[in-house]
This record gives sequence, C-alpha cells and structure tokens, in this order.
Amino acid sequence: MVRSIELTERQQKIIEIVKKQGPITGEQIAEKFNLTRATLRPDLAILTMAGILDARPRVGYYYKGKTIDVLFSEKMRDFIVNDIKSVPIVVRENSSIYDGVVTMFLEDVGTLFVVQEGGLLTGIVSRKDLLKAAIGHADINQVPIELAMTRMPNIITVMPDETVYEAARKIIEHEVDALPVVRLDESHQGLQVIGRITKTNITKLFVELAEKE
Ligand code: ADP
Repeated sequence: MVRSIELTERQQKIIEIVKKQGPITGEQIAEKFNLTRATLRPDLAILTMAGILDARPRVGYYYKGKTIDVLFSEKMRDFIVNDIKSVPIVVRENSSIYDGVVTMFLEDVGTLFVVQEGGLLTGIVSRKDLLKAAIGHADINQVPIELAMTRMPNIITVMPDETVYEAARKIIEHEVDALPVVRLDESHQGLQVIGRITKTNITKLFVELAEKE
C-alpha cells in the first residue's frame, strides 16, 4: 500500500519538482540538486517502480501517482452492496406490533422489513416506529404492524450491484439506519427483499479497510 512507502526527503523533493515542472528529464532534475544524473538514478528508479513517477523516452519524467485521498475514494467505490449485505429480517403485514418487538430482540436488529405473501416488500419498521405505536395503543398484540410502518413507494432501497458508497449516501441523505437490498421479482409485480444494509455493515467495512496492511 502507498502508505508503507517511506520516501526520503530527496525523493519527496523530486516528486514536487516533477509535479510542478514535468515532463522533465533526469538531467534537468539532477541540475536542480547540483548532483549528477547517476547519483539520482536510484531515487528515480524507486519512484518509478512505486508508480509515483513515470518516464517516457525523449520526454522525461512525469507525475503519475495518486494522492492517498484519491486512492481511498477509488477503493471505496470498488465495493458493492452484494459483498457486505446481511440477511434481511422480515415480518408479515398482519404480524402484531408485539411480534415486531419480539422479532427485533430475538434477531438483534433495529429495522424490520415488512413483506406480503410471496415475499414482496410493502413496508419498513424502525425501533422508534414500534415505540411510538406501543405508547399509543393499549394492547399491542391486537395492532397490526402495518399501522406503524413506512410504506411503499416511500421506501429507500438499494440494488445488490450498487456500490457501498451509493448505499452510504442514501443512508445519510434520507436519515435512516437501514436499507433493504432488493431485486425486481420475476413477474415484475414488486420488489423482493434479498438483503439488508445498515450503518453497521458499512462501519465494519471501514474498520476492515483501516486494519489492512
Ligand atoms: P429510528 O426511527 O429508530 O430512529 P430510522 O432512522 O431508521 O430509525 O427510521 C426513521 C423513520 O424512517 C422511521 O419512521 C422508519 O419507518 C423510516 N425508515 C427507516 N428506513 C427506511 C428506508 N430505508 N426507507 C424509507 N423509510 C425508512
């Protein structure tokens, strides 16, 4: 990884010169240091091998390296939702608020997806949706979960081949904790839920990347 390359002060200066004045020949760089080209050769070789500089015959050296920021942002766009999605936890529309609370505890999730027969997505229920419903009703065994849910078509979803970055953007933009990962069902009647992306999935990926050598 780029961060593991320890550049000497001279190598860093060479990069600065090439960035500002490239393409520039080895000879011209050497002149700026009052050194011979032969003395600089090992530095130029290291910088070229590291992919920071590139050299073209009769043209000279030019800057090719990407900054860590650019590399990071490119890397973040490499991951797709399918790589990191979790199993979706679903309940049926006619389940009660009580069932929803129990499912959240048993499955250890904060968001439930509500589906109709055939597994098509119809709603989404968060912790606070259930809390709100629970304080509003005396018998939460009798109240169907669909009264508490956010309904289609107002559900923000993500497709398995979208990038993790796009999923993260949707989570932030719409201020939600989770997105159902969906695909169009075969008869094109609706969306089938095939996964779940949460703030936790994305945080885990972030930690994994940061801990990679
Ligand atoms: P909480 O309500 O526990 O803070 P969220 O921030 O995820 O959890 O949910 C806020 C509201 O947005 C809730 O009313 C919930 O039904 C709704 N919601 C949650 N996820 C989505 C989603 N992916 N698309 C649309 N609405 C959602």
